[in-house]
Amino acid sequence: MKCPKCQANWKQYKAGFNPSGSQHYRCGECNRVYTPKPIQQGYPEETRLLAIRMYVEGSSFGSIGRVLKVNPQSVANWVSQYTAKLPNAPMPAKVKKAELDELYTFVGKKKTKSTF
Ligand SMILES: [Zn+2]
Repeated sequence: MKCPKCQANWKQYKAGFNPSGSQHYRCGECNRVYTPKPIQQGYPEETRLLAIRMYVEGSSFGSIGRVLKVNPQSVANWVSQYTAKLPNAPMPAKVKKAELDELYTFVGKKKTKSTF
């Protein structure tokens, strides 16, 4: 066991459990209380990212589920959580340019020094 604060790997004492059931440790050097291995909720991130990758590559939820031995519904959830976090699809170039022109016009009208 190693203290995440002072890196001491001596005098590390068990210090009870947190509400989710993870073992706590206390460092005898700096008194830091820490949780060395939080209990994994659900599947590891590695598995989730791989599932999303496979989905992007064209696999169905069912086949991803079979390959990774996970519930296809979980795969569907991960994909929807992931896509919800993505920024909006980029605007077509034409629209973007029009917006920039508008912005430049606006900045010009203000007659103040641009901080760009
Ligand atoms: Zn420490």
